[in-house]
Amino acid sequence: MIVVKRGKEPNSLLKFRKQHLDADYETDMPTDVLKDIREQMWEEQKCLCAYCMRKIDDPRVMRIEHCRPRHPQGEKEHDRKATLDFKWMLGVCYGNSLEKGVKPEDKTCDAHRGNTELTINPFDELSIRKIKYSADGSICSDDPEINKDVTETLNLNCQALSLPQTRRSVLQKEQERILKKCKGKSQDAVIHELERTYSSLVQERNLTPYCGIIISWLEKKLKIS
Ligand SMILES: [Zn+2]
Repeated sequence: MIVVKRGKEPNSLLKFRKQHLDADYETDMPTDVLKDIREQMWEEQKCLCAYCMRKIDDPRVMRIEHCRPRHPQGEKEHDRKATLDFKWMLGVCYGNSLEKGVKPEDKTCDAHRGNTELTINPFDELSIRKIKYSADGSICSDDPEINKDVTETLNLNCQALSLPQTRRSVLQKEQERILKKCKGKSQDAVIHELERTYSSLVQERNLTPYCGIIISWLEKKLKIS
């Protein structure tokens, strides 16, 4: 999963909310507002699905997901207005649900989640840092609730989509790149390259598909917690 940083809501959404105080996301949203939401999320998320981190080729095939973690920032009630709140919207993939006859266990992300509530908060860096990666590229967490979110609710170790294998190979490629670049150089130079890579991914947000596993590995190496 990526840490999602939301900017200001699109102007068309703001205008729509102000004009329709009782609007319901499910039935009332005009297509041009949905289009603006998708496009902005796609850019803010660097074309990645917020859950599985696959690349989404076009904003038109990005799904708008309403993610309200359980009691985010002390909020208790879900209300209709919240469904129009840009700060809880996530751009996600179709989670394999467009495949004909796909089995439920082969779906991921929102398509697998349904209406199950999440504990993890994709807008909170510390929450995302509770995600760990095993050597085989599978995802887990020491926090039992978050572990359930990622392994069961969102099905992020889906074998049908080879998610763990893909993550492992993304990490291997990055490790090979760093090794090659720092060949014959001092330990300080290696640390510098690790720091540079981390800063590019996390601070500059040059996010690449499945880079969560790289970020997690760099945090371990650089002792960032
Ligand atoms: Zn996804």
